[in-house]
Amino acid sequence: MLDQTLEPLRAVIARHGLSADKRLGQNFLLDSQLLDRIARVPGDLTQKTVYEVGPGPGGLTRALLKAGAKVTAVERDRRCLPALAELSAYFPDQLQVISGDAMEIDEASVLGDHVHIVANLPYNVGTALLIRWLTAKTWQPWWDSLTLMFQKEVAERITAKVGTDHYGRLSVLAQWRSEAKLSFPVHRSAFVPPPKVMSAVVHLTPKDQPEGLSLGTLEKITAAAFNQRRKMLRQSLKNIEHMMEALELAGIDATRRPETVSVAEFMAIGRHWEKLSA
Ligand code: SAM
Repeated sequence: MLDQTLEPLRAVIARHGLSADKRLGQNFLLDSQLLDRIARVPGDLTQKTVYEVGPGPGGLTRALLKAGAKVTAVERDRRCLPALAELSAYFPDQLQVISGDAMEIDEASVLGDHVHIVANLPYNVGTALLIRWLTAKTWQPWWDSLTLMFQKEVAERITAKVGTDHYGRLSVLAQWRSEAKLSFPVHRSAFVPPPKVMSAVVHLTPKDQPEGLSLGTLEKITAAAFNQRRKMLRQSLKNIEHMMEALELAGIDATRRPETVSVAEFMAIGRHWEKLSA
């Protein structure tokens, strides 16, 4: 109902002169059915707190507001602010816009907890933001779910299962800290302008933090192991003191290659290594 009286996004973009700026990773989504579909991924958002990075002209923002969410959106491109102010007036008390860089916001203090993050992320900072959200200092984190658009290849890396081509450091980190699912692919033609590659929406919900393993340990092991992904663990991990003993205690054959080692196995190696290094 509301949607019918809102000016079409294309007209908003034209009226405010919002030509896409490549340097800001701007590829806009205009298809309201697709945007509503993305807004449905986290479940019922009525009265829920949603954090959106990079609202741009506000297509996804509209879908989130229509779904009843209370949205805080941070946008770096000041040209978009007047269009977002109009949206804020149209959905009173539902939209707060912060003008700034998402990499510099202290999210937990601005937003509180139980936040659903929903974003069509700018490609240049998307992975850095995901890593930041997955490595939040306190766990359970301040966010309840992440619904994020990524380049398809990145979405595949986040959700890859052990033993597959895309399985690597990002898969282990994401799946250690969250249940990570690929929700659906999005064709490049859905964006204005269309990017070179396909995209996909991923959905992540936080897992309980496993005890006895620090993030630093996991990163140290996966960085060394996947840095030489064709090599056996006994080669790629040999320069880390106590690592061969940790592999043995975890029951991991040192001739295995990193893509065959499951998240649970990496955690077991890490736990033994921490005990040996204490
Ligand atoms: N949400 C809109 C949509 O779905 O059509 C726009 C998505 S576009 C891929 C990414 C948006 O993020 C752009 O509006 C861009 O200006 C904004 N952006 C880029 N870098 C940013 C940053 N560091 N902090 C906040 N916003 C940023």
